[in-house]
Amino acid sequence: MKVSFPHMGQVWVALKTLFDKNGVECIVPPKCSKRTLSLGTQYSPGWVCMPYKTILGNYLEALELGADTLIGVAGPGLCRLGYYAKVHEQILRELGYDFKMYTFDWQEKQIVGLATFIKTLLQENSWRKIAGDIKFGLTQLFYLDDIERYTHVIRPREKEQGATSKIWSTVGDRICAAHDPKTLKNTKKQIMDELNAIEQIPGIRPLRVGLLGEFFVATEPFINMDMEEEMGKMHVEVTRSAYVSDWAKVWLFIEALGLGHGEKVKKAARPYLTRDVSGDAIQSLGETALHAQEGFDGIVHIQPFTCMPEIIAQNLLPQVSRDHDIPVMSIILDEQMGKAGLVTRLEAFVDLMNRRRMTKERGKKVS
Ligand code: SF4
Repeated sequence: MKVSFPHMGQVWVALKTLFDKNGVECIVPPKCSKRTLSLGTQYSPGWVCMPYKTILGNYLEALELGADTLIGVAGPGLCRLGYYAKVHEQILRELGYDFKMYTFDWQEKQIVGLATFIKTLLQENSWRKIAGDIKFGLTQLFYLDDIERYTHVIRPREKEQGATSKIWSTVGDRICAAHDPKTLKNTKKQIMDELNAIEQIPGIRPLRVGLLGEFFVATEPFINMDMEEEMGKMHVEVTRSAYVSDWAKVWLFIEALGLGHGEKVKKAARPYLTRDVSGDAIQSLGETALHAQEGFDGIVHIQPFTCMPEIIAQNLLPQVSRDHDIPVMSIILDEQMGKAGLVTRLEAFVDLMNRRRMTKERGKKVS
């Protein structure tokens, strides 16, 4: 068996470790690139969203490299994601590829569903071993997200531009290479020490911006054109709402028990949207209101072209923005978009937030 899966952000790290630890050959598709997207786009309807096209591109690149088993995510949500794996499978078979496809319904049975899915793939393993492997994989994802959150704090303050990104570019491989809890803990500590050693601009007060929107585009830097890095260069501290470890909180029933942040977000979104329209719409609305209360300078809301849940959120965001007095910029991403145009829009938004902050501070001094 030569197994592969969509690249999506840092998810590949936990999956590769799982298969490596169990002696299963695993083909990590190349990092998402122009080629990935253009391959996916070539065999997709024009109107379908970018996650669909990118994942199809990942599969095509993995099959080219010799993968014979693919993993896909399905789900009972209201958005189209639930049936993408089925359609991908059909298209790839029509293109003449011979492979096995396993889909994982991540929402329905949560951690039990995940364990059953892994048992299907790694049949000879005991349930005890599978439980240990899941625990280790989730720890990797939590560590990766902790480190990534910290890069968002360090990057806008760094003296030498690019120092944080240089370290971040090595993190996935380093966490992936750690195959036991002690090495994993030491690797994380080493990376945090390196980030702490980056020289910072004295006295800097970066703008604070919430990066909200659809999960896939928020977590995949190729698709969002390195938006966090670009904002970091403009001395903006980004707080992203979507992380893979948030899935783990759902799997571990942390959210169901009301111990996570989700209930607070839903409550803040309720005046604008009373029912779940799937995707991340509730989060986009609720976090905008919460970030305003926390004194953020602005919100960047991102979504793929034709994303149903985020179109709903985008239409409600102007009201949230007015009610909570926080500027919001919505950006729609598709394969036609160029990075220069995106950076220009971000620069204009940063100017606006800087002027707003100055006016507010001047007003405080006068009164
Ligand atoms: S949430 Fe939007 S972009 Fe994501 S899979 Fe669903 S429709 Fe596509």
